[in-house]
Amino acid sequence: MNFAAIIVAAGTGSRAGGAPKQWRLLKGKAIVRWSVDTFKAAGAQPLVVVVNTDQKAEAEQWLGDADVVLAVGGATRTASVRSGLAAAGEVEVVMIHDAARPLLTAAHIRDLLDALESADGALPALPVADTLKRETGSGVATVDRDGLWRAQTPQAFRRAPLAAAYDRWPDDAPATDDAAVVEAAGGKVVLIPGDPLLMKITHPEDFAMVERLAEATRVTRVGQGFDAHRFGPGDGVWLCGIKIAHDLTLIGHSDADAGLHALTDALLGAIGAGDIGDHFPPSDPQWKGASSDRFLRHAAGLVHQRGGRITGVDVTLVCEQPKIKPHREAMRARLAELLDLPLDSISVKATTTEGMGFTGRSEGLAAQAIATVELPE
Ligand code: MG
Repeated sequence: MNFAAIIVAAGTGSRAGGAPKQWRLLKGKAIVRWSVDTFKAAGAQPLVVVVNTDQKAEAEQWLGDADVVLAVGGATRTASVRSGLAAAGEVEVVMIHDAARPLLTAAHIRDLLDALESADGALPALPVADTLKRETGSGVATVDRDGLWRAQTPQAFRRAPLAAAYDRWPDDAPATDDAAVVEAAGGKVVLIPGDPLLMKITHPEDFAMVERLAEATRVTRVGQGFDAHRFGPGDGVWLCGIKIAHDLTLIGHSDADAGLHALTDALLGAIGAGDIGDHFPPSDPQWKGASSDRFLRHAAGLVHQRGGRITGVDVTLVCEQPKIKPHREAMRARLAELLDLPLDSISVKATTTEGMGFTGRSEGLAAQAIATVELPE
C-alpha cells in the first residue's frame, strides 16, 4: 500500500532538558534520523519532516541527504501536523509519528497498514499495567484502569477522513494525538498491540533507556568480498584509496583498486544488496577510469539508508609487490575518511603467497575484505 509519513520534529523538547531531543544523538545518529531511515526503507513516499524554522541548521546537517520534504512547524502540535498534511499532498494513507520515538520498526509499519484495511485510523497502544491514582485535593482515589490504553505513534490514517476531521477541528483546540481528531469526527479508529520499543523520549532519564533498547534491537551482519586485478605496464597502483608508486599498474575498467572493490562487495554483502557489478556495470562507459572511492561511498550510503551502521572493516591485500606496510596507515586513514569511521574500527593487512599462484608470480594482486554492519532487527 502506498503511504506518506509525517514525522513531527518541531518540538522544543524542554521536558527532556538541553537541546531539542529530536536532534540529540542516539548511537551517533540524530534521534529523528532513526525514524526517517525506517520509514524510507519501508517505502514512505513522500516522507515529510516537520521542523521549526530555528532548527534549519540541524535539519540540513541530519536530513540534507535523506530525500525528505521539510515542512515548517507551527506553535502547537496540531498546527505542525496540519503543515505536514499539506506537504504530504494527495495520498491514500498517511502515517503520523513523533520524532521522539526513534525505535520504530518495519513490522510496526506493516501492522498499521494491515489494520487500516477495516478502519479510518489505527494506532499502537499498550494496556495500562500500573494502578492509577488521582489526587483529589482532599486525598487520593483509585482510578479504574479497565479499558484504558497508552497511545503510541506512528498512527496511520486514510487521508480523506483524517483531512476532513482536521478541517472540522478548531484551530485553537489542543490535540495530543491525531487519533483524537478522527475520533471526534466520528471516524473508526482501531488499536493494535503497542510495543515498549515505541517509547517516547520525554524525560532526561529516558535517553539511557532508549540507548539500551537500541542496543538490544540491533543485529550484526557480516559481509565478505574478494577481488583480483592483473598487473600491466604502468607507474603505480591504487590500493585502498591511496596511489602507490610502482613499476607496474593494475588493469581494470575503473581505477582497479582491488582493496576498495573487495570492501565495497563486503558492505553490499552485509546488507544483501548484490555485488559491485550490479551497481556499477563494467559495460557502462561512465565507470571507465572511475575512482573507486565512489563505489565504496555508494555501498556505505546503502547501509545508512537501511538504518544501518558500519562497525568494522578488515581488508587483506595479497601480493609480493608493491610492499604494503609503508602505506598501511595512510590506507586506514583514507578508509576512515571515506566511511566516516574511527580509525580503530579499520584494519588493513597484507600478506604474500610465498611465490605460489598468480599473486606469487606477480601476475596480479588480490584483495579480501570483511565488513560488520549493525542493522535494525
Ligand atoms: Mg575489481
